[in-house]
Amino acid sequence: MRRSLISLILPSFNEEENIPLIYENLHHIMALVNYDYELIFIDDGSEDQTLEYIQDLGRKHPHVKYVSFTRNFGKEAALLAGLEKSNGDAVIIMDADLQHPAFLIPEMIQGYEEGYDQVIAKRNRNGESPLRKTLSTLFYKGINQLVDVTLKNGIGDFRLLSRPVVNDILKLSEGNRFSKGLFAWVGYEEKVINYENVARQSGSSKWSLSKLLNYAIDGLVSFNTRPLRICLYTGMLILLMSLGYIAFIFVQIVRNGIDVPGYFSTISAILFLGGVQLLSLGVIGEYIGRMYNEVKRRPHYLVKESNIHDSKNKVSQ
Ligand code: UDP
Ligand code: MG
Repeated sequence: MRRSLISLILPSFNEEENIPLIYENLHHIMALVNYDYELIFIDDGSEDQTLEYIQDLGRKHPHVKYVSFTRNFGKEAALLAGLEKSNGDAVIIMDADLQHPAFLIPEMIQGYEEGYDQVIAKRNRNGESPLRKTLSTLFYKGINQLVDVTLKNGIGDFRLLSRPVVNDILKLSEGNRFSKGLFAWVGYEEKVINYENVARQSGSSKWSLSKLLNYAIDGLVSFNTRPLRICLYTGMLILLMSLGYIAFIFVQIVRNGIDVPGYFSTISAILFLGGVQLLSLGVIGEYIGRMYNEVKRRPHYLVKESNIHDSKNKVSQ
């Protein structure tokens, strides 16, 4: 009888120090469970020796597969490629930087055996800078007011997905991918496992503050058009207020004649309205930009080389 297969997907961008270590870790851990497994490394256009290390592992071990991108397409694209190439009955997504503790895998698999379609590892944020902690708390507070799915703080991309979930996620073809939201959007019964955050051993986080900000905006705008609605309401409110103010001034002028020192109120009204308008334009622009990207229907990534030879020769749409 065929043993069930687990696919482990590892997006890797400049992780040369971590590749051999994570391979060893997973090798030991996967010996503990009664499953076959494949490792799928996605080299996301690394500039260091990451690809060489992965190729080397692939030559030595038939269960090590890889896809190498022509340039850095970002973690979301790497995840998508991994999901597309995976054959497992269940798929585990984890970072290649050793921040996702491999020892949780048996517990995750146990959750899968209990019948959960998504098993999510949730970390606390110990060891992160206070600024980052605060920003992420604020982000999750804010985003959950706005989007239709619930996103939880500390839940990253370390999770197990059953085959049906993976297939459903692959059906979502949008160009701007925000995996956290997509995973929540597909639904299914989920189980959460908690763990302690570990600091990165080597290399550095690829998330700069600006990347995180962009990620936050993607998350916000990818899920609905509520920000547009907020702009509309703000605009309406401001318009009403300024109309009231104009009427008030008009009455004043009729009663008392023209009063020159109105400069301050005039300039502040102009600046304020200008600000609101720019903000609204920005939000609208976000959506138009997104439509533009969707309309282009460009692939999410381009493959430079791979040791996975599937008949479909898929390039993501
Ligand atoms: N990563 C990637 N492409 C990128 C950035 C990151 O494939 O453009 C990978 C990276 O190699 C790591 C994972 O995504 O395996 C998480 O990245 P990182 O550690 O920088 O994020 P953090 O842990 O700080 O959220
Ligand atoms: Mg990391």
